[in-house]
Amino acid sequence: MSADLGRLIAEAAKVLEEAEEITFACHVGPDGDALGSMMGLAIAAENAGKKVITSFGSPFIIPENLSFVPTVGLVPPDEFPENPGVMVVLDAGSADRLAELGHHAGNASTLIVIDHHVTNEGFGDIGIVDGEAAATAELVAELLRELRWPVTAEIATCLHTALVTDTGRFQYSATKPSTFQLAAGLVAAGANTDYIGQYVYERAPFGYLHAAGAALSRAQLDEDASVVSTVITADDLKKAGIDWGDIDNLINTIRLPVEADVSVLAKTHDDGRVKLSMRSRGGTDVGAIAAGLGGGGHRFAAGATVEMTADEAISAVIAAVKAAK
Ligand code: AMP
Ligand code: MN
Ligand code: MN
Repeated sequence: MSADLGRLIAEAAKVLEEAEEITFACHVGPDGDALGSMMGLAIAAENAGKKVITSFGSPFIIPENLSFVPTVGLVPPDEFPENPGVMVVLDAGSADRLAELGHHAGNASTLIVIDHHVTNEGFGDIGIVDGEAAATAELVAELLRELRWPVTAEIATCLHTALVTDTGRFQYSATKPSTFQLAAGLVAAGANTDYIGQYVYERAPFGYLHAAGAALSRAQLDEDASVVSTVITADDLKKAGIDWGDIDNLINTIRLPVEADVSVLAKTHDDGRVKLSMRSRGGTDVGAIAAGLGGGGHRFAAGATVEMTADEAISAVIAAVKAAK
């Protein structure tokens, strides 16, 4: 950890120690790291005697595969305090990733941002931001250590879920020896590894098979660009009787073809917006491509929400991949 990061963690710890009430928000469409990091820190704060309020922007739905993550103080975004005192934002690289809660973050008297996106815009009063952290949860663990707030089994489950999901089960290149050391401590503290793995990765509603089948049957390979892509629509999900939160793992199938370095899943929402999920095997900085489209993320896993058709969005990614070669 850099001296600078250590100083920021100490500064944030002091603010949290002194606060009576702490509000928390994570990015929209929370993944395991967003929800797990937020709840891990919030539960520890409550155990330390703080009043805690947690939320995330609309749609206010916890994906079914994260429904086991313990929660505390959870309120829908319209019940979040208009003018928060101390507010902690987790796993979001910019205020717009909070949807409507970005407004509340702007009103907070002290805004602490804990994040690991390389595209982080540097918002907030105290930014605990490290683009090399494998998950936001690694930074939360450092903060808990500084605070001497104990890691209970519940907190360990939250943080371990975050580590497991953001490292792709400890596979991605950001996974360091210290990531495994943290995981070992969390398992020792009571995180239930096989339960987390099964819940996150080995469960889906039956309709997932049909929705995924529809998306997979439309997959295209651009060999010149080394890009595999496909589209999934709100209509596919409706027919299959499932929600967006049920297809978070679909990109892991789209990315399988060996012929492609880059994989793209375009999700066409009812309101016409298209959400792009992008992955690279390591040959392309998809974070930079996502940032060019108004989104962000990491070098090899990134996303963006765009106002174009799915085909236009995929063409834009292919053009950007070719331009980056
Ligand atoms: P996903 O494809 O949704 O799993 O997202 C991959 C990575 O990109 C995650 O780290 C997200 O936080 C980030 N990301 C996804 N969508 C956006 C967006 N619209 N703006 C900024 N970052 C995003
Ligand atoms: Mn995330
Ligand atoms: Mn993350």
